[in-house]
Amino acid sequence: MRLLRSIYCLFLLTYPLVLSGCVIKTYEPQISPAAYPRIYPLGSSENPIIDSNITLSQALRKFAPPEIKEKQGLVEVLYYSFDGKIHKGQIIIDKRLAEDIREVFMVALNDKFPINSVIPISHNRFFNNGNWNDDNQSMLANNTSGFNYRMVTAGKKLSNHAYGFAVDINPVQNPYIKKDVVLPKGAVYDIQAPGTLTPESSVVKTFKRLGWTWGGEWNSLKDYQHFEKVLTAPEALK
Ligand SMILES: [Zn+2]
Repeated sequence: MRLLRSIYCLFLLTYPLVLSGCVIKTYEPQISPAAYPRIYPLGSSENPIIDSNITLSQALRKFAPPEIKEKQGLVEVLYYSFDGKIHKGQIIIDKRLAEDIREVFMVALNDKFPINSVIPISHNRFFNNGNWNDDNQSMLANNTSGFNYRMVTAGKKLSNHAYGFAVDINPVQNPYIKKDVVLPKGAVYDIQAPGTLTPESSVVKTFKRLGWTWGGEWNSLKDYQHFEKVLTAPEALK
């Protein structure tokens, strides 16, 4: 009986120590702060707003001859948009021009030249009345795009966009103007407006340095949104 009482007393003495010492210590966090994933704000270059995230085959759903489609590549680009945030989009272009496109978009991003959106023409967003063949929808949405199997504006021959040799940037700020025709409708070319291309723009200078032609320097009409670099005579692809 005396022995039992001694054991009981020992238990009473040590129980709080077990609680405050061993048990609690066991549950101390073992992970160092560096192991937690870092949260980047939405709209930063590490966590951009995704404007387009489709596959190359989705981006080539619209009709085009296979020998032209096989030359196209998908370039993912980051850009500073009009909301002051960094967005991520995609551009379809002849694979041989992919490096030029990356370089131009890098310059635009560094200069904070705003680009509204960069979404391929075959994105669901531009699907209307059973097809994607509506450049007007892309222009009205102020969307920047490259490859588009279509005719030239108000003409009967294939555009250089149909070969992946051309890019249109911010159509609303940089319209196509031929006499009374302005596309997209209602657009105004104002060199003071952000996102407008001028001979002084780093985007224009970079394209020209890389051997591209700017439609803003044409004489018969002005196509301020348009840049092209023709690699092969289009006739050779027909
Ligand atoms: Zn164009």
